Amino acid sequence: MGNFFNRVLLKLSGEALQGSDGCGINADTLNNYALQIRDVVRLGVQAAVVVGGGNIFRGWQGTGRGFDRVSGDQMGMLATTINSLGLQNALENAGIPAQTFTAVNMQPIGKHYSPQEAQRFLADGGVAVVAGGTGNPFFSTDTAAALRAAELQADCLLKGTRVDGVYSADPEKDPNAVRYEHISFDEAIEKGLRVMDLTAFTLCRENRLRIIVFDITKKGSLRSVIETGRGGTLIDG
Ligand code: UDP
Repeated sequence: MGNFFNRVLLKLSGEALQGSDGCGINADTLNNYALQIRDVVRLGVQAAVVVGGGNIFRGWQGTGRGFDRVSGDQMGMLATTINSLGLQNALENAGIPAQTFTAVNMQPIGKHYSPQEAQRFLADGGVAVVAGGTGNPFFSTDTAAALRAAELQADCLLKGTRVDGVYSADPEKDPNAVRYEHISFDEAIEKGLRVMDLTAFTLCRENRLRIIVFDITKKGSLRSVIETGRGGTLIDG
């Protein structure tokens, strides 16, 4: 069976790197993701990954606690780089070539990102871990993921989370909440569903980049999404 997607951009939130202990980076969690990514790379799929930093620091959390927003966001971007290096190592330990590319120059910690170089790395079967968000404060790693997916001409932005899709309401609070299997960009905006922040979402819509939100914590879920083109929730239009 062929794959539905040949090149994907996987977005992992920082929180998705935590284990049940709820702090920092959990090695078992990272290994689970690395093995899932290895699985799809071995199917011939090109995979770039953008990792968030929310498990370590978010810029807005610092405002009011003595940090200005720009410094806080820079701390957040560094947090994404810490997580990216962790994922790069987990991938290498799993036997897959991986390279962290950073939005701003931080050599030798990672290579300074260029879309051309990242694409060449992907074409050679490596996993490009793209760190440092967009390199600018006031943006999110969801926006970075949308931007990198567009630049790298990914077939889809796969948002791996700890829930299995987008719901009409918070399923933990509302027993009547239903999961959408497929929803258009416009409908999602109309219904006020928080798939991503609006900047990220708009970038996807304008570039006709579909998004699939799925539960990455479930083993085999990444492969299933890539083979079938479906997952928890597909957003397009
Ligand atoms: N950040 C930023 N610019 C970017 C991407 C991220 O300033 O382009 C900062 C911002 O402070 C953000 C933090 O990095 O709060 C961590 O990223 P994010 O909150 O998106 O991580 P996630 O929620 O996915 O773990």
